[in-house]
Amino acid sequence: MKSSQDNSEHIVTLAEWLQKSKHTTILTGAGMSTESNIPDFRSKEGWWNNIDPRTVATTEALDNHYDLFHEFYSMRINLLENCLPHRGHHILVEWEQQGLIQAICTQNVDGFHSAAGGQHVYELHGSINKFHCADCSKIPSKEQFLNKDRCSQCGGKLRPNVVLFGEMLPEESWSTSLSHIRKSDLVVVIGTSLEVYPASQLPQMTEGKTVYINTETNGKNQDFSLIIQDKAGAVLAKVNEIIEKKEK
Ligand SMILES: [Zn+2]
Repeated sequence: MKSSQDNSEHIVTLAEWLQKSKHTTILTGAGMSTESNIPDFRSKEGWWNNIDPRTVATTEALDNHYDLFHEFYSMRINLLENCLPHRGHHILVEWEQQGLIQAICTQNVDGFHSAAGGQHVYELHGSINKFHCADCSKIPSKEQFLNKDRCSQCGGKLRPNVVLFGEMLPEESWSTSLSHIRKSDLVVVIGTSLEVYPASQLPQMTEGKTVYINTETNGKNQDFSLIIQDKAGAVLAKVNEIIEKKEK
């Protein structure tokens, strides 16, 4: 466990690295969105503890238990209706506009990085706000999905554009993320326990410096150049304060 003193030194170091780096990639996970009051379904408090994601977020559930599949995603979509990007998402967009970061790769499906105005956002696990027919790929509206309509073209099941367990990641998001990370001299990983393959492999694919920001950092000391144990939004706000002061 690191003291807050350590954290403030590390925050200064991160601000310096960000300003020196020529190519920086951000990789975010569920912990990035918890401050928007979205439940982090992998944390101890997460509501997924009662439902094993591997039984619902699967092609098997889509094929054989569509009622459960539909109920689960409808619930998640409805939860998101009341949530907005927080200050941390906006800070990342400001950094992108200032040329401090070149790519935001995310495991989140909530679309908040784009909603905040991010231009180079790569959604590794897809988007929960876009939909397609499982059989013919016709694109329905969110309302049609929530109404549990069938595909207007072929009668197939409608589903969100999220990556289900056992499915491949969207190829373009993956390959673009990978190429950004390979040429980065700084990769900042925010709010992910890095348990989900293959996104979990991305931080190891750079020869640049790596920073890990999360409320839980157990077992990550070996893998990163710098570790900051705190909430994503709080750390980003502190780093941003330092950067703004230097610019004045
Ligand atoms: Zn269809």
